[in-house]
Amino acid sequence: MRNLPTKIHIQNTLTGKETELPIWKNGITRLFVCGPTVYDRLHIGNARTYASFDNFVKFLRYTGIKVRYIQNITDIDDKIIKKAEEEKTTPEEIAQKYTKIFKENMRALDITSVDKYLPATDYIQEIISQVERLIEKNYAYKIEKDLTADKAGGYYFDLSKFPDYGKLAGRTIEQAEDGVSRIDENENKKNRGDFCLWKFPKTNLPLSKKKTKKPILLDGEPVWWAPFGWGRPGWHIEDTAISEKELGPQYEIHGGGRDLIFPHHEAEIAEQESVSGKKPFVQLWMHTGLMTVEGKKMSKSLGNFITVDEFLKNNDANLFRLIVAMHHYRSAMDISERETTAAKEALNNIKEFFAKLDLITKKGVKEKNEENLKTLISFEEKFVGGLTEDLNTPKSLAAVFESINKFSQNIWKLNKLTAKNIKSSFENHLKILGIKIEYTKPDKSTEKIIKEREIFRNKKEFSKSDELRRQIEAKGYKIDDTPLGPLVYKN
Ligand code: AMP
Repeated sequence: MRNLPTKIHIQNTLTGKETELPIWKNGITRLFVCGPTVYDRLHIGNARTYASFDNFVKFLRYTGIKVRYIQNITDIDDKIIKKAEEEKTTPEEIAQKYTKIFKENMRALDITSVDKYLPATDYIQEIISQVERLIEKNYAYKIEKDLTADKAGGYYFDLSKFPDYGKLAGRTIEQAEDGVSRIDENENKKNRGDFCLWKFPKTNLPLSKKKTKKPILLDGEPVWWAPFGWGRPGWHIEDTAISEKELGPQYEIHGGGRDLIFPHHEAEIAEQESVSGKKPFVQLWMHTGLMTVEGKKMSKSLGNFITVDEFLKNNDANLFRLIVAMHHYRSAMDISERETTAAKEALNNIKEFFAKLDLITKKGVKEKNEENLKTLISFEEKFVGGLTEDLNTPKSLAAVFESINKFSQNIWKLNKLTAKNIKSSFENHLKILGIKIEYTKPDKSTEKIIKEREIFRNKKEFSKSDELRRQIEAKGYKIDDTPLGPLVYKN
């Protein structure tokens, strides 16, 4: 059974409205999501954003839509340089170390839909080409470095040349720097919100330095040769250079956390639309709500974060994916003990249901029941239907629990084959949300005790069978005597 939806709606930050996902000409939907700045371990707030887009892409692929999904890796940035100084190593080593951890975390959380992770330093020539075109077209201007005042210069984007600035976030150019982090401070900027495209090094280059392909390290700062001066890329230009090369000057969907709407995504629009002269840069902008801790954004700079590694030390990845799916991707999400406990209970309910379905598949009745088949079809329609409505994962999960309740009313009368079909349908659908249900079946020695216990029970020697029950429970199993025999499993 497979119900393919005909329409999918997604909230578009650019228009403030739900947009019907168009089917594109060549049948491929191009998606770019902002990846991490690799200077520290990933926290579960970052992972929430990536898990949400993983749900989105897995759902699109489930419906048959072909998606080309790429993510950049910001592997050159002030924060990386600072960390390298602190750890007395090179920015390259810091970036490599945390890229490796990031990818391991993604695999551990079953975030597997990204086709390619693209480090910014692999795209320096494309970055240089974008800056060059912006200079030629008069969108970029130079601020000379002022070494006496320890201020790096660079090429800046002139916002007065791009009147559309602010269209994504609903801000004016005057509000450009209000309340945002990661701005490019320089008192010589023409407009308050002008952002840096290319940063000149803080230290003077040795006079002998000639053009090289590889970067050189100048007082701990990696710098590349460019026709307009040695330096390194500003943050926003990394993404547009990568996406222009990999996806073209215009593409379908761009995503990230809400914190990136301004200034990052706004700056990307200004850059790419100015470079190519083509509008719109992106048709659909999708933004995830932020994970908060006691109401404050979980962030590396505030230090109020739980890393993915810490989370996975005490919990399994399915629990994380379930918590993510329990919230609409655009809502803020506060992580708390209560939240985790509720998700654990929900996960255990599904595990118990699966254990029952396995027992029924082995020993259940053969009579078919039309009502159960209807419940299964209705589950699939509701689950898929939820995802078509702006990726409403809580609605899809509600369909899971609603149908578990319905099937459970008369579960031992469930037909063998229907039980098998329900399980595989649940597996196929939960997989879209990165949830893989696994419970532990009894091992061989426990199987032996279960059999012995059945013999005592049949002989009504209950004190002996109770003793064996205790032995099974001592091994951490749950045991439940059902009309089809004992159900034994571990969560
Ligand atoms: P960063 O490494 O800070 O550039 O963040 C990488 C990704 O995680 C971006 O898409 C951010 O929008 C997202 N992100 C950062 N903090 C949070 C948070 N607290 N909750 C959800 N997403 C976040």
